[in-house]
Amino acid sequence: MGTYAVTGSASGMGAAVAQKLTDAGHRVIGVDLRDADVIADLSTPDGRASAASGVLGLAENRFDGAVLAAGLGPTAGAERARLIIEVNYFGVTELLTAWQPALATAGNAKVVVFSSNSTTTVPLVPRSLIKAFRDGDAGKALRVAMRFRKFAPPIAYAGSKIALTHWVRRTAVAPHWVGEGIRLNALAPGAIRTPLLEEQLETPSERKQIESFPVPVGGFGDASQLGEWAVFMLSPAADFLVGSVVFVDGGTDAYFRPDDWPRPPTLPRYVLKTRQWARRRRL
Ligand code: NAD
Repeated sequence: MGTYAVTGSASGMGAAVAQKLTDAGHRVIGVDLRDADVIADLSTPDGRASAASGVLGLAENRFDGAVLAAGLGPTAGAERARLIIEVNYFGVTELLTAWQPALATAGNAKVVVFSSNSTTTVPLVPRSLIKAFRDGDAGKALRVAMRFRKFAPPIAYAGSKIALTHWVRRTAVAPHWVGEGIRLNALAPGAIRTPLLEEQLETPSERKQIESFPVPVGGFGDASQLGEWAVFMLSPAADFLVGSVVFVDGGTDAYFRPDDWPRPPTLPRYVLKTRQWARRRRL
């Protein structure tokens, strides 16, 4: 049986994952603002450092996997964009960076990061926002998002999840991740019935927008089913799964952009990447 760190373990999909892992006999180290083994606020650098070291201490610097589910939804409010930026992006990348040696020690660790189908279904997210995340500049990310005024939370949300998913894909194939046996992937849910979604549904205008959003299968997803997907992505079935983004969204992504992906690489990128690979492998 393994040891797994789960952020956002007190509610919604994080709680569903934690319960399923515990039921299967694994040890779960939960991280959240309340009702968790490690109580920490992932919206501040100090809180993230204390969450990272708290888990490393309890796991004795070796654990078999992690699920990063802590996050905030794009509800309205002055503070919301800042919290989204801090928790949804830095609350994942800083923790995983700190945990990499402990995951590598396990030899065959699996990591699942909660992304979102907002990555491919929200228009007008500026490149400068994605770049600010990539540069590690939370202040700049907030300034860019705030230009969208009342739409700052949804833009910050989609931007945080796009940048996070890019980070997952870049990091997953880096030698010190895949080369050290770690399988890092992202799960991209659509609208799933959890307290995060319920909070959005409480506002009539947001409810109207959410209920009129195209979902080909109809209705909302189920937190327990998403928990099953995450647990599957922690299992040996994921030994050959690296840098993938698994959409479980009732068909919304396919509806909006059926022909955008898959798409072949350009010839210059193909040549460059194959040469880099050969150099790395000394072929
Ligand atoms: P949820 O609100 O039920 O759970 C999120 C958890 O994150 C909560 O327990 C909360 O306390 C914790 N959290 C929030 N801020 C924190 C902070 N500062 N420090 C520590 N913990 C904090 O949400 P959920 O719907 O289960 O969402 C899980 C993940 O899935 C999130 O990353 C969310 O963005 C993503 N997601 C959700 C949906 C959806 O429709 N529910 C859709 C796509 C993606």
